Amino acid sequence: MADELDIPESHPRYESLLTRHRIEAGVEKGITSKQGLIAEGRGEAFDYLLGERTLESAETAERVAAAHLLLADRPVLSVNGNVAALVPGEIGELAAATGAEIEVNLFNRTDERMAAIASHLREHGAGEVKGLDADGRIPGLEHERAKVDADGIESADVVLVPLEDGDRAEALGEMGKTEIVIDLNPLSRSAQVAAVPIVDNVLRAVPNITAHARELDEESDATLEAIIAEFDPNAALQAAEQAIRSGDLK
Ligand code: ATP
Repeated sequence: MADELDIPESHPRYESLLTRHRIEAGVEKGITSKQGLIAEGRGEAFDYLLGERTLESAETAERVAAAHLLLADRPVLSVNGNVAALVPGEIGELAAATGAEIEVNLFNRTDERMAAIASHLREHGAGEVKGLDADGRIPGLEHERAKVDADGIESADVVLVPLEDGDRAEALGEMGKTEIVIDLNPLSRSAQVAAVPIVDNVLRAVPNITAHARELDEESDATLEAIIAEFDPNAALQAAEQAIRSGDLK
């Protein structure tokens, strides 16, 4: 990671510069859309307001996310162009730690970008990558945006959707899936409809969920269920809003 940028890791804006650099490289490589650049800008603004750190409430949500993924029968990690650019290797590690499938799922879907993202993920160590069959549908969405794999997101019980757009997050929730959303904006519709909203940068959140999954791996179902039962999504969102209001930047 460190040699990607000609800037020391001690630089106060290191993470944000690394994020910009990866997104820019993602656009050049054909995996991130121009819309993805706009999403990145919005995320960066919220990360700044949150002090560019993982809040305690987000850390808790990351642990709950790990418990959900470990308990799930068919967990799926949904990957879009920004996620593929920012955390390609980390997504593979989370999949390995939880037994989840990886599925490419794009807002602006083109065959070229689907294929480019799948091979980018494989170059970074992912095994099978779903999403290319597109033989399933999310009800209530228009054609292109509804496409998913029948044996992937369509039949998943728990789905991790980092940086998902609000419409699709709502539609997935209506399908009865347990949704874990990673979004730096606690006011976004995606975060609001999630069973587990994680208000944190995907760069920090994905490795944190993996670390929790490894630590919880040997725990009983009852312990994992207890971790989940204690979690209150509204309290997590409120804690993030409160952190922004407090203006306590790093
Ligand atoms: P809504 O969910 O309210 O409908 P939207 O669909 O308009 O929002 P987009 O702009 O499509 O939202 O999605 C970008 C979202 O992703 C923003 O809420 C932004 O805060 C978040 N985001 C961007 N970069 C990151 C990142 N690195 N980590 C986590 N979240 C991010």
